[in-house]
Amino acid sequence: MSNNDVRNVIVIGGGPAGYTAALYSARALLDPLVIEGVSWGGQLMNTSDVENFPGYSEGVLGPQMMNDLRAQAERFGTEFVTDDAVRVDLSQRPFVVETGEGTYRAKVLIIATGAKARELGLPSEVALQGKGVSYCAVCDAAFFRGQEIVVVGGGDSAMEDALFLTRFAEKVTIVHRRDEFRASPIMLERARSNEKIELVVTSAVVDEVLGTEAGKVSGVRLRSTKTDETWEVEAGAVFVAIGHDPNTSLFTDALEHDEAGYLITKPYSTATNVHGVFAAGDVQDPVFKQAVTAAGSGCMAALEAERLLAAEEQARVATG
Ligand code: NAP
Repeated sequence: MSNNDVRNVIVIGGGPAGYTAALYSARALLDPLVIEGVSWGGQLMNTSDVENFPGYSEGVLGPQMMNDLRAQAERFGTEFVTDDAVRVDLSQRPFVVETGEGTYRAKVLIIATGAKARELGLPSEVALQGKGVSYCAVCDAAFFRGQEIVVVGGGDSAMEDALFLTRFAEKVTIVHRRDEFRASPIMLERARSNEKIELVVTSAVVDEVLGTEAGKVSGVRLRSTKTDETWEVEAGAVFVAIGHDPNTSLFTDALEHDEAGYLITKPYSTATNVHGVFAAGDVQDPVFKQAVTAAGSGCMAALEAERLLAAEEQARVATG
């Protein structure tokens, strides 16, 4: 197929939502093309063990799981472009997607570009990712049973993560950069009254994530934003819960989105405000953000794409 041909379906994004959308579209004989990004695989490429994706009874490494999802989509004829989409035109159908190397057109577009967990921006944080630095309490809490844990952040996610971690941890310390919290009063109160959350440190930032010689997290060095004093807190893990940013900058001119940039889809659907454009996975989900929910919505998007194309084909045949 040449660059000028119009595809049935282009999926933008190579994470659980994108590959699942491709799998379902390919099995519906829609010959999907996935523009999967240069660093395909999404957030799970930075994760070690994944124990909460159904079907892997012994757990699986994040990159291995993404290879598996990609291979499954490929098995049914999905084509891949391992490049980033740099421009889209959603003003008319067929929609246009440009990468650095080529221009692609499709009757239906499935946007599955995901979201990024915000990072603290420390070299020591990057060095210890997957070795005690985590961005997902639901995913990784069970690996730190009986340990002392630091949670960074002052919003609802930080409170929710800290509360969830108390099921496994011996002690949880919350570190927040200001002395006022962004979290809702009820979440803050729940965190404060939990006896395993011994310490809520305010007006402090993480200066460095500390590691053992074996390359595992051993604690954090904190710095007071008021006095510049520094001190260390021991911890077997650091959960960074300072928010997520959806990867939607290419689409926010054309598609409805919320204040944070998450694409808005119709209830019980992945349809956006542009007919023929669907959004799946974390790009439209500020709430659940799990690989399995992303995969589920990728499936929904593909089914909706298939139904739309079938209805249009029927209408075309009926009108001769
Ligand atoms: P958020 O509300 O944006 O809070 C992010 C927190 O991280 C803020 O306290 C912020 O500090 C801090 N932060 C940001 N960048 C930082 C940095 N570089 N270093 C240190 N701290 C930093 O994000 P969220 O907590 O993920 O919540 C997102 C949305 O989901 C919110 O609307 C929230 O209510 C909702 N949510 C609801 C629930 C629930 O109701 N159960 C659970 C989770 C999330 P500052 O305050 O100083 O800016």
